[in-house]
Amino acid sequence: MRPTIIAGNWKLHCTLVEAEALARGVLPAAARAAGRQVLLCPPFTALDRVARIVVEGAPNLRLGGQNLYWEERGAFTGEISAGLLVDCGCSHVLVGHSERRHVFGELDEESGHKVAAALGSGLTPMLCVGEKIAQRRAGETQEVVERQLAAGLGNWRPGADRGVVIAYEPVWAIGTGETATVAQAQETHTVIRSWLAGRFGGAIADETPILYGGSVKDTNAAELLIAADIDGVLVGGASLDAAVFSRIITAGL
Ligand code: PEP
Repeated sequence: MRPTIIAGNWKLHCTLVEAEALARGVLPAAARAAGRQVLLCPPFTALDRVARIVVEGAPNLRLGGQNLYWEERGAFTGEISAGLLVDCGCSHVLVGHSERRHVFGELDEESGHKVAAALGSGLTPMLCVGEKIAQRRAGETQEVVERQLAAGLGNWRPGADRGVVIAYEPVWAIGTGETATVAQAQETHTVIRSWLAGRFGGAIADETPILYGGSVKDTNAAELLIAADIDGVLVGGASLDAAVFSRIITAGL
């Protein structure tokens, strides 16, 4: 059975004091949602501080990085490696978030290197895929998502490697307040699961969690989580308010 995952991407927010308060603020909801995994992705500077709260807090809490570089060490100023994320207590890492792709120009093939590096260090990569609005209007959603999956998972050897998580995040829905309808999300999640089945087999497709992300709020989380192929949500803005994120964590329970 696939786990339900509620992930908060704090992006470039939170001082240490703010991060600690936010993490502590979601502990009661995480405890109430014991059957769900709750993943916090603070900025790198707050990982160690939040890791202590994750360890002491509810057993279903997890810590994730927002990005990584595929080399383990060396002259790569400003970068962070999979091993350093593990050292801070991370179990997960986002790969290919739309802001990495479209603000920082990250290429599809870089996702493949990052997924491989994460897997090699024992991290679960959360590969983010999604189309821009012009691509959706041109009927290219499936093509774009499949291209990003092929590049990102090109080095994944299911069975030998640990599992991965996919996050479908339509670019037009991220940070815009415009959420994909449940039908739109479910449709693309079906495309993703079919692609996984074609490439890796039905059992792997069945056990791989596929999250939806893009303006998820406490008012729409429950209806998204009910859909058959939506195994959780990746939340940006609404994860920065402990009360709102708590309601998302427990949505529909
Ligand atoms: C995200 O950062 O992955 C995201 C989905 O952001 P938001 O919820 O703010 O749209």
